[in-house]
Amino acid sequence: SIAIVWFRRDLRLQDHPALVAAATRHERVLPVYIHAPDEEGDWAPGAASRWWLHHALDALQRDLHRHHGELHLRIGPSLQTLQALIEATGAEAVYWNRLYEPALVARDTQIKQTLREQGVHVASFDAALWRNPWQVLTKQDEPYRVFTPFWRNLRAQLGDEPPLDTPSPLRLEKAKDGATLDALDLLPRRDWADGFSEHWTPGEAGAMEMLERLADDALRGYGELRDRPALVGTSRLSPHLHFGEITPRMARAKLRAAVDASGEEKGLEPYLRELGWRDFAHHVMYHFPHSVDRNLDERFDRYPWRDDDAALERWQQGRTGVPLVDAGMRELWATGWMHNRVRMIVASWLTKNMGQHWLHGARWFWDTLVDADLANNSLGWQWVAGSGVDAAPYFRIFNPVTQAQRFDPEGEYIRRWVPELRDAPKKLLHEPWAQDGFAASRGYPLPMLDIKDSRQRALDGYEAVRNG
Ligand code: FAD
Repeated sequence: SIAIVWFRRDLRLQDHPALVAAATRHERVLPVYIHAPDEEGDWAPGAASRWWLHHALDALQRDLHRHHGELHLRIGPSLQTLQALIEATGAEAVYWNRLYEPALVARDTQIKQTLREQGVHVASFDAALWRNPWQVLTKQDEPYRVFTPFWRNLRAQLGDEPPLDTPSPLRLEKAKDGATLDALDLLPRRDWADGFSEHWTPGEAGAMEMLERLADDALRGYGELRDRPALVGTSRLSPHLHFGEITPRMARAKLRAAVDASGEEKGLEPYLRELGWRDFAHHVMYHFPHSVDRNLDERFDRYPWRDDDAALERWQQGRTGVPLVDAGMRELWATGWMHNRVRMIVASWLTKNMGQHWLHGARWFWDTLVDADLANNSLGWQWVAGSGVDAAPYFRIFNPVTQAQRFDPEGEYIRRWVPELRDAPKKLLHEPWAQDGFAASRGYPLPMLDIKDSRQRALDGYEAVRNG
């Protein structure tokens, strides 16, 4: 018999429960990818994600060729495409790994029900997260709103489950009338993303390379160096995790082995905890689905957000006149990624100092990040804006100058991304406005806002939230 494995954001062959089930229970497996961005509602993949997806599908295609098969590409809608494939190949079963975005949960539930009614065997599997969002609950069976107790619960549930091997042999079925990768039209028309390939290798092999680097080297310093944007102090696995080219289980097994071999535990727990944030973000999105586009804390509906397109554009283009903010926004544009500490700082500048709604920032990130992920992005933005779960007290507004002095003390990060300031003396690098005429002489703008005044305005705005 034949089983269809419907690949979605699990673009790998290892630790793939749907693929393992299909290969063990059936004689042949038909691997299928269906392009159906409309089914993702308001959050169809943005431009940087589409660039990544193109290359990740290409990589999976090559990996499947090595098993003498191919990834059968189709353009949606998903249900009708699966039905047509079942009809054409006589497939008896459809398997997939679960996704958790609200629009996709609704779609998958409906597809599962319809196919089952038609006598097709359908099963979905868990692999993207440590645990499903409904498997980590408080003693009262409620979802968590605070990370630390969530993590304590989840951490206690984690055993040493090894990742699943790629099924061997993998007997693959082919189907007729597939689309070409180019027909999916994923690549941007402008050459904006050309530089991305200097920084990234989408696909399972690229993910494993990043993981090796972390295991060999970076993990040891992870706890201390993860806040330094100039260094490669973090794993940079986020786009690989988003597209499911690697699973948390694969990461953990590899890192555990490296730690056992070197005898140096340091770094492992802080790293697992960071992956715990990813589970937490999915937990929040699953249990509070409106949080992807509405304030989780409804009191923030009263916040006096300011709309100003010209100011928003300055932020997007990295022309705010605040060096660390501009460095981050330019890193994002050039590489499709931004360091976590800097994400918090640029988000705080937009939502607090500039007073713009977090959704403006979330949408820009959505289009420009290669790791754009609805759960992680919504959680990150709402956390910084103060409207989400587990947010820091509102008055803790990041000061981009003191943050730069602390986390980029030599200014390497700023010099890398803001070439106007490359040769600025250290005392002016973080505050180029401190000497009259200096910024202008380098073609660099003066700050769009006074840091202190805009901080005070944010605090005043917050009074509306507090007092109703
Ligand atoms: P590492 O430090 O190596 O962490 C390992 C993995 O843990 C990451 O790859 C990621 O999957 C997960 N992780 C780490 N921190 C977080 C976090 N705070 N929340 C959820 N998961 C986390 N991350 C995304 O993957 N996609 C997004 O769209 C996204 N948008 C963000 C927006 C804002 C405003 C903020 C403040 C954070 C956002 N993050 C997002 C979280 C975080 O910045 C990135 O996951 C991280 O910078 C990725 O780099 P890394 O893989 O080197 O991280």
